Amino acid sequence: MSTDPGDRLPGLVAEFLRRHDPAGDRLGFLRARFDAGLAWVHYPVGSGGLAAPRHLQPLVDDEFARVGAPDNRPRRNGIGLGMVAPTLLRHGTTAQRDRLLRPLWTGEDIWCQLFSEPDAGSDLAGLTTRAVRDGGDWVVNGQKVWTSLAHRARWGILLARTATDVGKHQGITCFVCDMTAPGVQVRPLRQLTGEAEFNEVFLTDVRLPDDLRLGGVGEGWRVARTTLMNERVAIGGAPAPREGGLIGLVARTWRDRPELRTAGRHDELVRLWVRAEAARLAALRLRQQLATGEPGPEGSAVKLAFAELAQRISGFEVELLGEAGLRHDDWTMRRPAETDLLTRTATHRYLRARGNSIEGGSSEILRNIIAERVLGLPVEPRSDR
Ligand SMILES: Cc1cc2nc3c(=O)[nH]c(=O)nc-3n(C[C@H](O)[C@H](O)[C@H](O)COP(=O)(O)OP(=O)(O)OC[C@H]3O[C@@H](n4cnc5c(N)ncnc54)[C@H](O)[C@@H]3O)c2cc1C
Repeated sequence: MSTDPGDRLPGLVAEFLRRHDPAGDRLGFLRARFDAGLAWVHYPVGSGGLAAPRHLQPLVDDEFARVGAPDNRPRRNGIGLGMVAPTLLRHGTTAQRDRLLRPLWTGEDIWCQLFSEPDAGSDLAGLTTRAVRDGGDWVVNGQKVWTSLAHRARWGILLARTATDVGKHQGITCFVCDMTAPGVQVRPLRQLTGEAEFNEVFLTDVRLPDDLRLGGVGEGWRVARTTLMNERVAIGGAPAPREGGLIGLVARTWRDRPELRTAGRHDELVRLWVRAEAARLAALRLRQQLATGEPGPEGSAVKLAFAELAQRISGFEVELLGEAGLRHDDWTMRRPAETDLLTRTATHRYLRARGNSIEGGSSEILRNIIAERVLGLPVEPRSDR
């Protein structure tokens, strides 16, 4: 029998489907899929995988999708799946991985990212939330802001300062924050769209046991870099079919509504279509590169392209639709469980896209990263290193 995982995987999936009914209990099915190593095939055995090459994952996903198997609702747990899981894999202890990865993958546990603070966004290493050791616990005090999904999250990945007598990048430690712990207070922040996807989070004498520390004391910056690099790939590099996403919506409107067409708009649509396709192919290439390792600074380029395109395409859509493009569907403050821009109005897409060039690293910062770490241009003078 072949030992090549690429040859073995189809048989393993077929065998799994013989034993588990995709139309049966959803959660039971997902848990069993994780236990069989068919969640993330490139993760270690016992952590949802089979230690197989990463590029084989789509083969497994496609086969489960083909038989209509339930998915783990990735849009509900984007931070968990896209950013926390690779961070736990790289920096977590075996006990942490055993405890946290399965309910993360099945979607039972939603995760949030407690990084940004009122005075520490782009300059993340300037954060002031403190964690002080007290016996077997850490006591955390501080404030986080723009925390997407905190109101739904069971766990948060938290950065806190544990030393002040060293350089600012050295004095940070990463924790898994129990969002149900006493002292964690989550307050909604309303956005331009009218919705409150994100929150302020106040941490007052929150006690976290030391076994929720992720990585070594003072090594939080290294852990955060893993999360941030994966964040850029998760936001900018998500798989999309040709003419998928926002450009697909606009192209469909163009085909269905000849009365909206003008020569100038035609030129602009073609320009956007070509850029969207180039961005999609760049993201595809990035995912192929990822199959052989960790995301590099190139992830910043796809995130940057995604943000700029989303703003331009959504702006074009609003203009194309004229008055109708300015009609927003709902201004009541909602807290949606899933982000699905494609089912909302053009106005909603336009307004929500403003945040794309801020969240996950602002476009200015990403341009700095590309200039310095991808293109090797001279670095900006910095006083904090
Ligand atoms: C929709 C949305 C969701 C978010 N979700 C989360 C979340 O779940 N968890 C979380 O922790 N954070 C989250 N954020 C926060 C986000 O990561 C920060 O807003 C972002 O990193 C920018 O930081 P800041 O807002 O403090 O802006 P600042 O750092 O104050 O920057 C202000 C402006 O100055 C520019 N600037 C700053 N420094 C430089 C420099 N050195 N060179 C050039 N330009 C510079 C910036 O690019 C920006 O244009 C979210 C933000 C948004 C919009």
